Amino acid sequence: MSHIVVVEDEPAIAELIAINLRHAGHEVTLAATAEQARYEIDAVLPDLVVLDWMLPGQSGLALARQWRAAARTRELPIIMLTARGEEADKVAGLDAGADDYLSKPFSTKELMARIRAVLRRKAPEALEDVVEVAGLRIDPSTRRVCRRTDKGEIDLKLGPTEFRLLHFFMTHTERVHSRAQLLDRVWGDHVFIEERTVDVHVKRLREALAPANCSCMVETVRGAGYRLTQHANAVQA
Ligand code: CA
Repeated sequence: MSHIVVVEDEPAIAELIAINLRHAGHEVTLAATAEQARYEIDAVLPDLVVLDWMLPGQSGLALARQWRAAARTRELPIIMLTARGEEADKVAGLDAGADDYLSKPFSTKELMARIRAVLRRKAPEALEDVVEVAGLRIDPSTRRVCRRTDKGEIDLKLGPTEFRLLHFFMTHTERVHSRAQLLDRVWGDHVFIEERTVDVHVKRLREALAPANCSCMVETVRGAGYRLTQHANAVQA
């Protein structure tokens, strides 16, 4: 479900991390240099980056700073790896914008646990947890969406894109998302898909939610984008 970019120039370590991540169900892209990493992230925004500090050419630290300074990658979850275990390095890594920091050698078990913790905090849409908002319930592991009412549960049928869109909205309620942000975070691509595509799928999502009377939870914010709210007037139980 989640897409992770691993930036690491030592092939043995990169492979070890990739194998463990794939085993845990993540999709992995490897990059051996800062330049490659930039290229990958310009194309598709991942859910998280595991970033080695010491890279040939530009350092991971400088790369993290660049990502933090750009609007599109400001929120990108980053876990920094380093062979240097000094307190001052850890502080520098976190100051550069890393969400967490691991010294080599580290156990892959610990790395997996930290990845999960950072995703839970910053990219909950990349996890499989059941989410419920105003009686509307989505379960990524069973792909089921339903609404609980006094009379029982109403099952809703959603297409795969509408499912991902609803899951993203439900893990980021009340916030307004621009069409470009939705393309990045739901489609994973901001360049090759027209923004109008978002409108088409929002319309389909509202239609899919109609049998449970919760289409109005998906609000259009004029000139800004869309948001999911649990305070919609017409949400009827
Ligand atoms: Ca290295």
